[in-house]
Amino acid sequence: MKKAIHYTIVPKDLAGHLFEVTLTVAAPDAGGQVFSLPAWIPGSYMIREFARNIVQIRAEAQGAAVLLQKRDKHTWQAAPCAGPLILHYEVYAWDLSVRAAHLDQTHGFFNGTSVFLSVHDQEHLPHVVDIQRPQAEACSSWRVATSLPELKAKRHGFGTYVAADYDELIDHPVEMGDFALATFKAHGVPHDIVITGRVPNLDLPRLAADLKKVCEAQIALFEPQSRHAPMRRYVFMTLAVGDGYGGLEHRASTALICSRADLPVLGKKDISDGYRTYLGLCSHEYFHTWNVKRIKPAVFAPYNLRLENYTSLLWLFEGFTSYYDDLMLVRSGLIDEKDYFKLLAKTINGVARGSGRTKQSVAESSFDAWVKYYRQDENAPNAVVSYYTKGSLIGLALDLTIRSQTRGKKSLDDVMRALWQRYGRDFYGDGPDAGRGITEAAVEALVDEVSGLSLRRALRRFVSGTDDLPLAKLLAPFGVTLVDGRKDARPGLGVRITKEGNDCRLANVHEDSVAHRAGLSAGDVLAAIDGLRVTASNLDTLLARLRVGDTVTIHAFRRDELFSVAATLAADDTPQASLTMEAKPAAAARLRAGWLGRGKV
Ligand code: ZN
Repeated sequence: MKKAIHYTIVPKDLAGHLFEVTLTVAAPDAGGQVFSLPAWIPGSYMIREFARNIVQIRAEAQGAAVLLQKRDKHTWQAAPCAGPLILHYEVYAWDLSVRAAHLDQTHGFFNGTSVFLSVHDQEHLPHVVDIQRPQAEACSSWRVATSLPELKAKRHGFGTYVAADYDELIDHPVEMGDFALATFKAHGVPHDIVITGRVPNLDLPRLAADLKKVCEAQIALFEPQSRHAPMRRYVFMTLAVGDGYGGLEHRASTALICSRADLPVLGKKDISDGYRTYLGLCSHEYFHTWNVKRIKPAVFAPYNLRLENYTSLLWLFEGFTSYYDDLMLVRSGLIDEKDYFKLLAKTINGVARGSGRTKQSVAESSFDAWVKYYRQDENAPNAVVSYYTKGSLIGLALDLTIRSQTRGKKSLDDVMRALWQRYGRDFYGDGPDAGRGITEAAVEALVDEVSGLSLRRALRRFVSGTDDLPLAKLLAPFGVTLVDGRKDARPGLGVRITKEGNDCRLANVHEDSVAHRAGLSAGDVLAAIDGLRVTASNLDTLLARLRVGDTVTIHAFRRDELFSVAATLAADDTPQASLTMEAKPAAAARLRAGWLGRGKV
């Protein structure tokens, strides 16, 4: 391919965690070619400045060195020269997350945003990448997993891969190593499951069978007639570690990190909480294949990778995706209604617990994601509302409203399908809708149009307001009630703690809680309550002997200074934050089946 940008990436020093990248530009800018690395990775809304991991960089042309000047923290400019211009650089890869790059003797992983400098004004050209095997003998059995199309490589082999442009290049992360691999087809499209990390007795066939159900349900949700998936193939890549959780969506793959214990064990058929969580995570990232990777906010079309891209719509792209992730598990039969209601109640209680919900709307939380949701400090529960969890409840509220007001004829599924047809389906095509994103106003108009109802004002109140959602009222027509689940009025401090060795440290102090009123702060280490030592594990036991209304003396350390306060104990749970859901089996069976059943899927 002559008119293309060429990269070679070599895992050069496994113990030193260095990838070596060679970048060849056939026709560099005559005025001095500019290169830069993204400041953030789409899907994770925080400035991360990946260029800080470039260790050394040099340029050459016609066998002679070319001067490279740093223009800003992400950007270099080469002196004017005739092509081809070749850049050599090393990238330090030791970030054990789905967002950057990681390399050692056990595996290599990278996102293009961490390793591939963009060639300014040539981003539209095809980008070819030669992914090379590490030299070490121990790596002779390594394979490659990526959704990048192969140019000259066997499936799962080292060799050359190609992307239509830079935007596509950085949207296909690459995993290499001795991973476990299973493949299944969902409505005819091959899907790989790649698991990296030591996982004894991993039940891969079960995982493949379960994920197939989730994937087929989602494909059918968006394309009920054709059952046509938007990608040619898809890769679920998972790094299993001792303790971890996270995922990042891409147009034809997802990079996940999970706790080893969450993955299914051969011979065990029950669905553990951990496995349900993992399936929910897979379902979430897969739903993004449509919602945010193709249906996008207008400001992401295209992304500006140099700075923050502000949108007030993350409640739709993350919140509705969160609403559908567990919903698709119940609709595809992997969990039952009872389990689903438990998950839903947990989300409702989680949102109710933080007073941040009374101060920040999900539209504001979306807009400020870069500096608030993604950079949470100890005061976050009192200042920030999650556009994930409250956004998912807005999805629920909207779905229930449309279903009950149209007597089950329409639903949020119809809204998602309309979004897909008008904005998503042709996003990467070359028709008139290619590259078109959606605005806040267009979302409101589309909801009214598709439902045939007048929901604009209600939706605006949910999204831009801070009132609690009227969920009890909305659930009633579905035969579902919210019940105060408090067993007894147990005294508590209204804090979240972290265990540090034997110390009990306050991680968050909820506003207007017992701890707040007594003068305790996040960061304080509790020493004693009424003269009895508090440890990392006995706080609940100590409080269980006390009663609501008792006044106690609490000793604590702030930094290394001991102090004491008097605290009057109050009930730990508020009624709003300890709800359970109950469904009457016979009531509203038809409406509920349309919502949770396989009705339309
Ligand atoms: Zn997400």
